[in-house]
Amino acid sequence: MKKGNMLYEGKAKKVFETDSPELLIVSYKDDATAFNGLKKGTIAGKGVINNKMSNALMRILQNNGIPTHYVEELNDRDTLVRKVRIVPLEVIVRNVAAGSFAKNYGVTEGVVFPEPTIELTYKNDALGDPLLNEYHALALNLATREELDAIKNYAFRINEILKTFWISRGVTLVDFKLEFGKLPDGSIVLADEISPDTCRLWDSATGKKLDKDRFRRDLGGVEDAYREIMDRLKQKTEAEE
Ligand code: ADP
Ligand code: UDP
Repeated sequence: MKKGNMLYEGKAKKVFETDSPELLIVSYKDDATAFNGLKKGTIAGKGVINNKMSNALMRILQNNGIPTHYVEELNDRDTLVRKVRIVPLEVIVRNVAAGSFAKNYGVTEGVVFPEPTIELTYKNDALGDPLLNEYHALALNLATREELDAIKNYAFRINEILKTFWISRGVTLVDFKLEFGKLPDGSIVLADEISPDTCRLWDSATGKKLDKDRFRRDLGGVEDAYREIMDRLKQKTEAEE
C-alpha cells in the first residue's frame, strides 16, 4: 500500500490517503509537544518506538476481543489503519493519581485509586481540550448515549488488559488517553495510538517514569526512557518463553 495525499499533519503524526478509501497510513514523527503545544521539542527515535509499541499493544487488544483501527505495520514509522470518523473525545483512564488529576483534586501523585476511574475531555485544541461529562458530550452532539456506553465499556476492558500486560513487564500503568472512532457501519473501534506519549508508565520497583513526563517536566533521559520502555515491552516473561 502506497502513501497518497497527506490529509492532515498533527503534532505527533502525519495521516495519508491510500489507494483504498477505507484505509489510511499514519506516519509517526519524532516531534513532541506538551501543554497544548506551548512546549515543543524533538525526541530522537520516538516515532519508531511509538509506532511499534502502539501496534504491539493494539494487536494484544485485538487478540482479547477489542476492535481497533490497526491493520498492518508497513515499516518503522508507517502503519496502515482503517479510516474512522474520530469521536472528538479524549478518554482518560486512571489507576493512580498523577498529572492534572493530582493537581485539580489536591491528591499526592502515586496514590492508588480503590478502582479505576475515567474522565472525558473535548478534543478541541482551540479550547484547550476542556474536561466534560457525558451529559455535556450529549448536549454537544459529540456521541450518542449508546456510543458513550460502548466507549466506557471498551476503555475499562482495555485498562484491565493493558494493566495486566505491563505488570508482567514490571511496569505500573498509571493512566492513559484513548481515542475512539466510527467505522462506516457505525460501530466503534479504538483508534489513534497507545504509546509513552499517551500513557504514564512507571517502573513498578523504583517508580522511575518511563514516559513523556520526562519531556514535559524536563527530567532528562527522555530518549533513554523511551528505549527502556520499548525494551520492557519486548521482554518475554517466563510464562511466554
Ligand atoms: P493531534 O491531532 O492531536 O496533533 P496526531 O499528531 O497524533 O494528533 O495526529 C493524528 C490525527 O489522526 C489525530 O487527530 C487523530 O485523531 C487522527 N486519527 C487517528 N487514527 C485515525 C483513524 N484510524 N482514522 C482517522 N483519523 C485518525
Ligand atoms: N494525555 C494525552 N494527551 C492529552 C492529554 C493527556 O495523551 O492531550 C495522556 C497523558 O499522557 C496521561 C493521561 O492522558 O497519560 C492523563 O493526562 P493528564 O490529564 O494528567 O494531563 P497532563 O498532566 O498531561 O496535563
